[in-house]
Amino acid sequence: MKRSSEAGLMVFWDYDTQWGGDRSRAGLGRRDWGGLEFPNTDKLLELHAAYSIPACFAVVGAAALPGDRPYHDPAQIRRIHESGHEVGSHSFRHEWLPGLTRLQVNGTLKASKDALEQCIGAPVTTFVPPYNQPFHYPRKLAFSLSERREAGRGHIDIRGLCRMLRENGYESCRIAYRPIWRQLLERLSGKSLSRPGRVEHIAGIACVQLNAPCGFGPGARAMLDRSVREGGLTVVYGHPHSLFTAGLQNIKALEPFLAYAAELVREGRLNVMLPRNLTAAPLAVNALAGAADA
Ligand SMILES: [Zn+2]
Repeated sequence: MKRSSEAGLMVFWDYDTQWGGDRSRAGLGRRDWGGLEFPNTDKLLELHAAYSIPACFAVVGAAALPGDRPYHDPAQIRRIHESGHEVGSHSFRHEWLPGLTRLQVNGTLKASKDALEQCIGAPVTTFVPPYNQPFHYPRKLAFSLSERREAGRGHIDIRGLCRMLRENGYESCRIAYRPIWRQLLERLSGKSLSRPGRVEHIAGIACVQLNAPCGFGPGARAMLDRSVREGGLTVVYGHPHSLFTAGLQNIKALEPFLAYAAELVREGRLNVMLPRNLTAAPLAVNALAGAADA
């Protein structure tokens, strides 16, 4: 953002397809929601167009290869791009990055970017790590004991990931880490200490931190209001496959959120932003029209 007083909103959709369902880490084994990604994404494209709010769809690269649902739909990925939204990479097959070797991380970053770029015929410069991990970022006093426990020593941290992203031609990344002091204060106070964000440059990558709970409920709305009051970014995300399931990603939470954001944009109080525009001017992209060629 040009001035720190500007309020910005970034909306992400994690487009997992069945590649994500096969690797669900919710402790429930394989889930079969992958097929819901496609009809729900069609609905999302309608809704985002109705409110003129562009989003970044973080797409599992393998879904862009030729083949059938629930694993592939290159035509839909092209439609997302042609509608003016950003197509970012969500790894190649929804791998849990801390569990991979450096060589494997490099492989998934590269394969995903290649598949998506060939599919849409445009650069893919944003990365969204599956499960929002790694959380581990010792330089900022963020430690993930579970990553250390499950993945062992030498697992990739946020800085290492950004370095590899840079090597593979990415420019921006969504991250999620909490320094240890913040985790302790949040546990003691029982409140989230998230606040409107700033772009954070890590190893040459422009990073934005998630700062609202998954979905579009009261927490996301409160962060948006705070961004408008204080300046700074609100970064929200959801999954297309959860659009009609109970919870804060439901369309009943999403639609009022989009309507509210659109009203703030009309009043000139909010910029809707895409991560691909963080590294190039102009930064604000309040309209979908023509954005596909940008
Ligand atoms: Zn995912």
